[in-house]
Amino acid sequence: MIKAFAAFEAEGELRPYEYDPGPLMPDEVELDVEYCGICHSDLSVIDNEWGMTQYPVVPGHEVVGTIANIGDKVKHLAIGQTVGLGWHAGYCGECAPCHSGDNNLCATAQPTIIGHHGGFADKVRAAADSVVAIPEGVDLESAGPLFCGGITVFNPLVQFAIKPTDKVAVIGIGGLGHMALMFLNAWGCEVTAFTSSEAKKKEALSLGAHHTLNSRDEQEIEGAAGSFDMIISTVNVKLDWNLYLGTLKPRGRLHFVGATLEPLDINVFSLLMGQRSISGSPVGSPATIASMLEFSRLHDIKPVIEKFSFDDINEAIARLRSGAAHYRIVLHR
Ligand code: NAP
Ligand code: ZN
Repeated sequence: MIKAFAAFEAEGELRPYEYDPGPLMPDEVELDVEYCGICHSDLSVIDNEWGMTQYPVVPGHEVVGTIANIGDKVKHLAIGQTVGLGWHAGYCGECAPCHSGDNNLCATAQPTIIGHHGGFADKVRAAADSVVAIPEGVDLESAGPLFCGGITVFNPLVQFAIKPTDKVAVIGIGGLGHMALMFLNAWGCEVTAFTSSEAKKKEALSLGAHHTLNSRDEQEIEGAAGSFDMIISTVNVKLDWNLYLGTLKPRGRLHFVGATLEPLDINVFSLLMGQRSISGSPVGSPATIASMLEFSRLHDIKPVIEKFSFDDINEAIARLRSGAAHYRIVLHR
């Protein structure tokens, strides 16, 4: 039996929950969970905000663990190896995106916490091709958040070939946003942090931002007109997107990774006149996760974490809900 923590209803507290995972499939691995980050998406799934939660739900999709058991067909991993597991716990392996290495775009990829039990547990299972070995030299205690939050903000730099001479802004300096500042700074870019918190402005500078602006102040945003090659939005709320479009250079891109539920209300002329784009992306492929881990090791990039014991899981979730976390909460044994 796997000993987990599950939510049984929307906005419910997590309670101990045991389940029998059945026989290990030939292409699967079973991990002993060492650490697990808490992402805002865990809250959205606990609350069924996206309408796809299956209760009881065992959240947790920023796992660092050791391989405890391995299916017969798995050749590239070994028992005892330390790996990470993120948003996806399996891919079809047969579609065009899977064949071209874009597994994160697979239409039937298996989310780790929807219709599958995640990492708030002593063990978790996943298809072997969805876990990624953690290279020697990466700090294990803080590595979990790289596997969802980190890859989600690293992937756009790869997808859109961001150059060191580019000026890039990040909206929302939370779990995802603070890692974006660190990656962009190491990438060589001129980095601007948009935050709604005056208190975070100073910290944003120490995380890698060169400039900070208030994400809810119309005048400050207007003052940055025509500045950015790319803006990465990590917020899950509606902001005045037309104001932000105005801060892009010609050919600039407003890229969404934050799961804002309200539909966009966009001034098409702002897109036409500057040939600007709007886009979004989900996490990243296992190959991109592996290169992010190498990049993080080389540049000594570590998520800034607050540690909570698994036994204090409800306190940890309440802290993330309150917006007080600096910047990612990680559960440990
Ligand atoms: P988080 O740690 O809670 O950070 C979100 C940040 O948004 C906050 O720190 C805050 O930044 C800003 N924010 C929140 N409410 C705001 C408001 N009313 N006005 C202005 N700013 C506000 O969340 P996270 O874990 O980084 O996740 C962020 C979003 O990304 C979530 O929607 C999550 O589901 C999504 N996500 C998407 C993917 C993907 O694959 N695309 C992967 C992971 C997560 P400031 O304090 O700086 O203002
Ligand atoms: Zn996540």
